[in-house]
Amino acid sequence: MTQPKIVTRFAPSPTGHLHVGNIRTALHNWLLAKKGGGRFVLRIDDTDAERSREEYVEGIRADLAWLGLSPEGEERQSARTALYAEAFARLEAAGRVYRCYETAQELDLKRKVLLGRGLPPIYDRAALALTEADHAARAAAGERPHWRFRLDHDEPIAWVDGIRGAQAFDPRQMSDPVVRRADGSWLYMLPSAIDDVAMGITDVLRGEDHVSNTAAQVQMFTALGAPVPRFAHEALLTGAEGKLSKRLGSLGVAQLRAAGIEPEALVALLARLGTSDPVDPALDADALADAFDLSRFGRAPARFDEAELHRVNAAIVHRLPYARVSHLLPDGMGVAAWDAIRPNLAHIGEATEWWQVVTGPIAVPAADDEARAFLSQAAGTLAGLEWGENPWAALTAALKDATGRKGKALFLPLRLALTGREHGPDMSALLPLIGRDAALERLRAAAG
Ligand code: GLU
Repeated sequence: MTQPKIVTRFAPSPTGHLHVGNIRTALHNWLLAKKGGGRFVLRIDDTDAERSREEYVEGIRADLAWLGLSPEGEERQSARTALYAEAFARLEAAGRVYRCYETAQELDLKRKVLLGRGLPPIYDRAALALTEADHAARAAAGERPHWRFRLDHDEPIAWVDGIRGAQAFDPRQMSDPVVRRADGSWLYMLPSAIDDVAMGITDVLRGEDHVSNTAAQVQMFTALGAPVPRFAHEALLTGAEGKLSKRLGSLGVAQLRAAGIEPEALVALLARLGTSDPVDPALDADALADAFDLSRFGRAPARFDEAELHRVNAAIVHRLPYARVSHLLPDGMGVAAWDAIRPNLAHIGEATEWWQVVTGPIAVPAADDEARAFLSQAAGTLAGLEWGENPWAALTAALKDATGRKGKALFLPLRLALTGREHGPDMSALLPLIGRDAALERLRAAAG
């Protein structure tokens, strides 16, 4: 038999916008699939009809598209309930799900009693003792059961986690999870396992908050007669200060875009966040996929630092080709201007300020008498120069010969007069963009 290709899935619940944490999970699933030449699928976990909203589904799709993480296939749990009912019937026939009637208050009381005795709050399986006559009496009284999955106490639970290593759970120390509510609706755990089987998911990569769900789901796969996929659980994301931060829970694509973050920067940072490997500011996520390796991820919480994201963003912006950014640039700003200006940008939006420096008008700080005399000489020199390939080199060479000035004394007054700023893009690239007439005008204006 040929080895099945890797199939991963990202399974958000559409109850809110994606935040940095689940964007990272989506990205890592995408990278894992790409690296294995496999498929990445989007599964919308919308079994909670009350909290799920269509605008969030659309937002999730738009965010993934912006990040360049297009899924090959999308499924929606709300459209798959027939599949769940069919699998559930098989589990019922096999005695792996059972009917329970305890109210939330009763369960709470049972938990408190156990905790009070210093015991773990595990469901006591009282409902397993009910007879068919008991169920019939409950039904006659108008009571409807909710359903639990019966864990097999004789089957130890173990898996080798792609990030956490060997994991073992004792099913006797776990409560049988509720999988279906009295109104027939589904809780997350069983539909997820049924879908993972039906969708041929080979690798489940998600946050470590799901580790105990995995313990139960491992048995669900077996009960469904399916092989258990590979599991990996990532450490949680924390803020730069190392604490779980509220801000991270709300920080999403919309806010990051508004702050001038490019998708390539977010992808590059999140691809490595949680490893000790340096961030590779790659423009092409396929290159990141080739280097993606779950064994590089540690168990310690991964720190997300917005300042670092802005640094990575600058490195990305410096590499972005004109074709990728042209629609974001001010009218008239061409490839030469972009190439001259991009090394000075932390965010693409700042290109507008530099384009203004090129096209003018600019405000030039007042120069002292000595500088004015020099700038007047510079204007004269420039007027007599042939405007060739590199007018800046020609101008400064001529002025160096004529005045003996060099270094800062030579360059700074010229830069200030020509751009109004002390720092900025390479003048050899900028001066041809400013043009001969405007440059002469600026030098003369600054010379007073
Ligand atoms: N809908 C679940 C969540 O958002 C999916 C978890 C999983 O990946 O299985 O937490």
